[in-house]
Amino acid sequence: MNPNEKQPFEVLIAGGGVAGLEAALALRELADDRVAITMLTPEPEFVYRPMRVREPFAYSAARHYPLDEIAREIGVELKQDAFKWLDPGHRDVHTEGGEQLAYDALLLALGARLSPRFKHAVTLDDRRIDEQLHGLIQDVEGGYTHKLAFIAPSRMPWPLPLYELALMTARRAFDMNQDISITLATPEDAPLAIFGTAVSETVQELLTEHGILFVPSAHCETPAPGEVLLHPGSRRLHVDRVIALPELFGPSTPGVPKPDGHGFIPIDTHCRVPGLEGVFAAGDAADFAVKHGSVAAQQADVAAEAIAALTGAPGEPSKFQPVIHGVLLGADKPLYLSAHITGGHGSSSEVSDEPTWSSPAKIAAKYLAPYLESRDRAAVR
Ligand SMILES: Cc1cc2nc3c(=O)[nH]c(=O)nc-3n(C[C@H](O)[C@H](O)[C@H](O)COP(=O)(O)OP(=O)(O)OC[C@H]3O[C@@H](n4cnc5c(N)ncnc54)[C@H](O)[C@@H]3O)c2cc1C
Repeated sequence: MNPNEKQPFEVLIAGGGVAGLEAALALRELADDRVAITMLTPEPEFVYRPMRVREPFAYSAARHYPLDEIAREIGVELKQDAFKWLDPGHRDVHTEGGEQLAYDALLLALGARLSPRFKHAVTLDDRRIDEQLHGLIQDVEGGYTHKLAFIAPSRMPWPLPLYELALMTARRAFDMNQDISITLATPEDAPLAIFGTAVSETVQELLTEHGILFVPSAHCETPAPGEVLLHPGSRRLHVDRVIALPELFGPSTPGVPKPDGHGFIPIDTHCRVPGLEGVFAAGDAADFAVKHGSVAAQQADVAAEAIAALTGAPGEPSKFQPVIHGVLLGADKPLYLSAHITGGHGSSSEVSDEPTWSSPAKIAAKYLAPYLESRDRAAVR
């Protein structure tokens, strides 16, 4: 090798989901060939998780994108293996497959671990949502199931899917001329509170129109099958079926100090992991109260900018200032929701039935949304 040739800066991205892919695309744009990117992920595909809520209703399945094709296209080395532990002193990641991968910068984008919170409920696992809910929707269509409760654990996981499932179920019952009584109970003080007041008001109207009873600030228990206890107040619901969101926990990452009891990875405003040089985290794995694709993508962009700056690429890295964008399905038309997040609540709340941001995909992501859109267009041609 020519000794004057500069070695590229080695970036290791652990995780091939929203945050991992967004960061890879951002780094290609911001640091180009200053970086050599390796992506470590056990799954061969990126699945567009938000669209999985439609699967039990017999709509088309969520799209799957082969990661090897994406990696080839954007110049990323793909390793189909899994993160096992971090040796920060030597800047090495040890994998489940026994490899040792060196890095100059590491992005932990491993997503969250899903754990059932309620004993007597169907806890959503989006990898098998059709199998979990298809029969239930058929029972609603056939008039065999009339009372449902949709509940969330006391720490709200992803905001949208529970609302979408409740709305789509109500519509399906209406379309099939079946009576249904749906209660939606969450710890939020208003529907989709993270999106702010204007969104909450619109969504409350939508729920009312669909005959869905929303119970705010609810901490639920399921003491027996078909029974939901709502705190405070100890109100008891008797229903045919209970559908719950899982509780989310941080991923297993030995070597990364985690002060948060739920295992999420601490980050600063540049998505750096405090105390670990060259280590960043983004997405559902990171310690931020809101778990959402658009938030994961913004954190990935912030981390990518900070990593690009380490390579000497031009540009001032920005700080994480969360804005949440979401597309709510289940009404006549999709609703486009946005808010700045301040102190765990949505401010500057905006709701529209027209897109209000560019590349208005279900997951708003600066680089990933247009990239997937162009792949989808090419696939149709
Ligand atoms: C049903 C549903 C609907 C949703 N709807 C929306 C929506 O409408 N809009 C929205 O913005 N968000 C939505 N979300 C939330 C959104 O999907 C997540 O916030 C987002 O996927 C988080 O991205 P991530 O990259 O942090 O994690 P993930 O997308 O979960 O990706 C994690 C990646 O890490 C990999 N991984 C796991 N363990 C390891 C390991 N040990 N080593 C290496 N890699 C590993 C996984 O294989 C995966 O590739 C929804 C979620 C669900 C479940």
